[in-house]
Amino acid sequence: MERVALIRCESYDVDQLEQKLRDGFELLGGESFLRRLIPAGSSVLLKPNLLSIETAGSPVVTHYALFEAVLRIVKDYSDKLSFGDSPGFGDSRRAADKAGLIAVAGRYGAKFEDFKETVHVKCEQALLCKSWDIARAPYEADVLITLPKLKTHGLAFMTGAIKNQFGCVPGLQKPAWHTRMTDPQNFSRMLLDLNTVVNTSFAVLDGITAMDGNGPRNGNPYQLQALIMGAGPSAVDAVAARLIGYDNPLEVPALKVAYDNGWGAVLPEEIEVLGESVEHLKAAHFKLVRSSTSSNRITDSMMPLLRGAMVPRPTVRPDKCIGCRRCAEVCPVKPQVISFIDHSGKPMPRWNMDACIRCFCCQELCPEGAIELRYTGIGRLLHRQKS
Ligand code: SF4
Ligand code: SF4
Repeated sequence: MERVALIRCESYDVDQLEQKLRDGFELLGGESFLRRLIPAGSSVLLKPNLLSIETAGSPVVTHYALFEAVLRIVKDYSDKLSFGDSPGFGDSRRAADKAGLIAVAGRYGAKFEDFKETVHVKCEQALLCKSWDIARAPYEADVLITLPKLKTHGLAFMTGAIKNQFGCVPGLQKPAWHTRMTDPQNFSRMLLDLNTVVNTSFAVLDGITAMDGNGPRNGNPYQLQALIMGAGPSAVDAVAARLIGYDNPLEVPALKVAYDNGWGAVLPEEIEVLGESVEHLKAAHFKLVRSSTSSNRITDSMMPLLRGAMVPRPTVRPDKCIGCRRCAEVCPVKPQVISFIDHSGKPMPRWNMDACIRCFCCQELCPEGAIELRYTGIGRLLHRQKS
């Protein structure tokens, strides 16, 4: 049984957060657990979620108070502290600074790593991706603690402990992985291999203010009031998935691939939830990302015919679009899938859906939340039935 601590936490008050985290560690084994997690003399790297350059306290990125509360605990066991991430768009130091993490880290002597220096590694037990160039800092840290934010995600359905480690792939290489892994299953295999390579030691998933709807950047803040802590990324994510409304965690592509390959605990009977019960903290009306392919009306033989309709397509909201062209900049498919037409004197995107691989980077990184994922035709019908 994998053990996961589930803690109710209502606010980002750093003193309260520290106490809640200490309660979680106590449930997991207290002092002896922490000493095993962070052996004497080891270096510790914290990996927050810095998706893009966002204001401190934004629900898009790891909250600076959670970051500080973790540092307060970890510094009792190590004086070799660092942190870093590689955002999907923009400079990593600026992202860390704007999110308030550089100022906090300075008070605890935690060094910033920009994840630009890479190391080439092999993943011998790979599900799919045997060869990697990843950021050196997380790979070489003795202890890697991931601090994801619980949010919806167009391709992965949700961001949590597993997805957060995609930031260990340096910025410019992320689009290359997207163009190679064009469906959720292969993208999930890639994510699990990456987690194997970086060997995540522990996860603190921030679900205090989560995000539903048009995540991971432009959704709605959702007061879930949950902290989910554990050493197994799939177990932490599986508990989070059930909390937000996936009664069957196998609906989430990475969790299905993890389960199918014995990668880690996923099913409720494989996970001991300590502290609060999932039922007690479960979200009432969390707007999930869900594939219409999960409909039990669809059989495998129908899939080739229906595949095009089963995946949503990025669609612009003209009232929100400011014509900044970032969507085309971040699109990994070259030549551009996105071109621009004039709309009341400003450029507005138009998609070549035959070339689009539906990675949803454009929707993820639009600064205005002007891109939404919509089903068309039969996909819309089936998705409605499922929702
Ligand atoms: S859709 Fe978003 S990213 Fe694209 S041009 Fe409009 S505002 Fe910019
Ligand atoms: S248009 Fe958007 S969804 Fe399509 S390939 Fe480009 S970034 Fe991905």
